Amino acid sequence: MRIYLDHNATTPVREEVLEAMMEILANQPGNPSSGYVEGTAARARVEAARAEVASCLGIPPASIYFTAGASEANNAVLMGLLEQAGGQGRLVTSNVEHPSVSEPADRLEKAGMKVTRLPVNAEGLLDPGDVVEAAGEDTVLVSLIWANNETGVLQPVEEIAQALKACGKRVHVDATQAIGKYPVDLARVPVDYLSCSAHKLNGPKGSGCLVAREGAPLHPLIRGGPQERRVRGGTENVAGIVGFGRACALAEEELPQRMGQYAALRDRLWEGLCKRVGQVRRNGSPDRVLANTLNVQFAGVEGEVLLQALDLEGIAVSAGAACHSGSISPSHVLSAMGLSPEQANSSLRLSVGHGVDAEQIDSAVETFAKLVGRIRRTVGA
Ligand code: PMP
Repeated sequence: MRIYLDHNATTPVREEVLEAMMEILANQPGNPSSGYVEGTAARARVEAARAEVASCLGIPPASIYFTAGASEANNAVLMGLLEQAGGQGRLVTSNVEHPSVSEPADRLEKAGMKVTRLPVNAEGLLDPGDVVEAAGEDTVLVSLIWANNETGVLQPVEEIAQALKACGKRVHVDATQAIGKYPVDLARVPVDYLSCSAHKLNGPKGSGCLVAREGAPLHPLIRGGPQERRVRGGTENVAGIVGFGRACALAEEELPQRMGQYAALRDRLWEGLCKRVGQVRRNGSPDRVLANTLNVQFAGVEGEVLLQALDLEGIAVSAGAACHSGSISPSHVLSAMGLSPEQANSSLRLSVGHGVDAEQIDSAVETFAKLVGRIRRTVGA
């Protein structure tokens, strides 16, 4: 039995989600745009799912636009600035964003927009005062990641959104890692746009949404059809949307219990690593962090080497480093927090979720102790 500790990469599909999707694939052949019985039945399922997603996020269903996931939603919001602002004005973002925000931001800069990339502190946190100060007169959008995919660090989005709303600035949040693991209630958090993906909360891959509050400008990334009120052309992924809806309904129901359970597993893992492995350091704020995420430095150990060794022993984890043609460039997130390339490259991301239990955590800790000890002896650390 493998031990899967990479729930921030993707999560297993819940049984309830699978059942809902199978029912669609088997029994609902219609295109939601068709006006006869099969079409209207499929349409009804899409709208029911929209209501489930909306309820989970605390926003009216009309604010939800289904997409193929968060990358598409992030691109739609950012690249939409080219049309909305004609490539003029300033985008304020951070230097710890997911590439589906940072690469469109680079593209916008090339097209002539001004881009401010705010730094984070050693704990990976943005200063709300810095964000407000940076969002001056010429700012057309502030785009921030809510929960970091590598460290799990939660930005003070509630506070930032309130402050920016008071000065009339538009705000986009990438909440891909937050939903299903942290309360995301847009009734309380006045952001204009939000992006997320179903597969991070036990739904299917290739399904997600863009949330745009009423009045927030929208420019289609995919043209060519009336679907999603002309914001996103193309026949809807009905099964994917239904699966996303079911995953959101489960998340809404189970969130407090999930957060408690994930935090207990995450803390057990951390305590086990401290006790049994030693010379470990936690990256990122230990308080303002997702309940399921642990980013750890293993002194004297190459993260990639440990990752491969763990894989061979049946444990899946993630390195916060991107491997480009054999050379490992340190994680931009950990570098932004002030870690040296060596520290960043000795770090791993461990993320728990549905299906992980205490027994697996204890077994994983023993494997970490064995492998880290072996690697340290080999390299003479
Ligand atoms: N934003 C964040 C914070 C993410 O973690 C991810 C997925 N790793 C994405 C965006 C993109 O999601 P998807 O690959 O489902 O489009």
